[in-house]
Amino acid sequence: MLDLSQGNLINLIITWMALAIAIFFRYVLMAGVFYYLFYVRFAGRYHSQKVNLRPAKSKQVRMEVRYSFIASLLFAVMGTLAIYFWQRGGTLIYTDLSGWKAWWLLPSLFLVLMIHETYYYWLHRWMHRPGVYRLVHRTHHESLTTTAWTSFSFHPVESVLQALPVFILIFIMPLHPFTLIALFLIMSVTSVVNHLNVEIYPSGTHRHWLGKWWIGATHHALHHSRFHFNYGLYFTFWDHWMKTESPEFEALFEEKTKS
Ligand SMILES: [Zn+2]
Ligand SMILES: [Zn+2]
Repeated sequence: MLDLSQGNLINLIITWMALAIAIFFRYVLMAGVFYYLFYVRFAGRYHSQKVNLRPAKSKQVRMEVRYSFIASLLFAVMGTLAIYFWQRGGTLIYTDLSGWKAWWLLPSLFLVLMIHETYYYWLHRWMHRPGVYRLVHRTHHESLTTTAWTSFSFHPVESVLQALPVFILIFIMPLHPFTLIALFLIMSVTSVVNHLNVEIYPSGTHRHWLGKWWIGATHHALHHSRFHFNYGLYFTFWDHWMKTESPEFEALFEEKTKS
């Protein structure tokens, strides 16, 4: 249980604030760098790869940054609790890299990505049920045409639901901080890439034996514009298996990458 004595509470609050600042700064940095590269510096070069041609709504970015800030505060709560339990030996997080603990780094990352994908796919489908959608998921879909800034823009309830699986995993699966950092990095970069509304992967990726399992901007833009297709997070396999991949995807990907 939580020890909320005065000294400890102050430590928890300081950790929470530091984490919130770091998480929000990471969002601004990632989204800012991608925005600068694809919408300012090389805007002309990538113009034909823009997926949804309808301009983003006015004031949309301001709303996205606001929700992303709230999401940062909530992710920081989960992070603070994770650190708290880790310091007290309550988690399976390990720091030494002797024996099996070194070679487990990569398979554990792969496994966490698969678990996260599966959890998110089914959570996402549940969030599209009409009642749940209105309460929890509509916020994210306010961005019909997505931007780099959409990548962390979720309703507070959705933010907690998104952070939950990794929080639970640290109690049931041995994970090294390197694995968690790699996971957060993949999470941050793919979310910005998938919401960028500019297809950055090369032509033929959608047919490549490995590339076809990987989600990009065209795939996720179709989710935001069509709603009932393409529910995946990092990978396309659940959409393949459950036949929820948009029938427009292949043609649109080819059109956006033909130059
Ligand atoms: Zn959705
Ligand atoms: Zn999205």
